[in-house]
Amino acid sequence: MSIPTPTDRPSRPPRRLLGGFALLVALVGLGLAASALIPASRMTMADSRSAPVPAPVDGDRAYGYLKALCAIGPRPAGSAANARQRAMVADHFRKHGGAVREQPFPATDPVSNAPVAMVNLIGSWFPDRAERVLLGVHYDTRPFPDEDPIPANRKKPFLGANDGASGVALLMEIAHHLADSPTPWGVDLVLFDGEELVYGGGNDQVGDYFLGSKAFARAYAEGKKDKARYAAALVLDMVGDRDLAIDREPYSVEFAPGLVRDVWAVAKALKVPQFRDKLGRAVYDDHLPLNNGGIPAIDIIDFDYRHWHTAKDLPEQCSGASLAQVGKVVTAWLNKPKAQGR
Ligand SMILES: [Zn+2]
Repeated sequence: MSIPTPTDRPSRPPRRLLGGFALLVALVGLGLAASALIPASRMTMADSRSAPVPAPVDGDRAYGYLKALCAIGPRPAGSAANARQRAMVADHFRKHGGAVREQPFPATDPVSNAPVAMVNLIGSWFPDRAERVLLGVHYDTRPFPDEDPIPANRKKPFLGANDGASGVALLMEIAHHLADSPTPWGVDLVLFDGEELVYGGGNDQVGDYFLGSKAFARAYAEGKKDKARYAAALVLDMVGDRDLAIDREPYSVEFAPGLVRDVWAVAKALKVPQFRDKLGRAVYDDHLPLNNGGIPAIDIIDFDYRHWHTAKDLPEQCSGASLAQVGKVVTAWLNKPKAQGR
């Protein structure tokens, strides 16, 4: 994920997003008009049905996955370790009832110009359901810890415990709870490759971000004749910080405001204070290409992480308790009845 500078508005979303945004505004307007017509008694019934029910997410087990992923070593796009991780997660998804497919796409290393074979991994539960939601993470790690305060460390290995493994570990934990879940949605757990095959820190960066989510969004837009449609996507990035605090991310609020409200309302109902009721920093992340491809998507991210892109982004900076809190909110959101609107 990268940080926008003030002159650096999202270059890709605007055109198509404006259309989508206007449509969204219109739909929200319709929704309000419709809900004004529902008798108060019906609304009370809906309210009692809406008590969010999280899955029994196991934070220790999720943290175990995070450590196992880091034990593979650095996992940049195109590496053998990246492929090993993908195989491990694919096996895990299958074991827990997911139908797994790979979505390969070509890319190029921005420094060596060598071709890089990238692969998104998609685990699907309830594949026959046309109305679907997506939980997405990136599983590649940045090639080097370019933001390390000690210059000598910037060529050291980067393990990406929080920036990479935390999202994957949480999806692995959530996979335990999907086959038996009361969710009304088809659910796709998606691992994006090539989120950051990017070299150098600050203004000296070389490479493009979000190659995996861009390829995914392109394939989705091209497959419009397919029956399956995404009602919503949650991108989970840096969700394992020991000192977890997740604010509303401004682009998420701009492009999918109803979804942000929905998820934060679940967190509030579950009394998960790590989801703070305030606007945080804007970040470019995989949610932007998804929105651009017509999937309402938000970024659930704790960007206040001291060890971001440093050699110290290690498992000891993360905790199972943090992963469990996010998992609770996400699974309760998944389990909400559709009638509650999305
Ligand atoms: Zn990163």
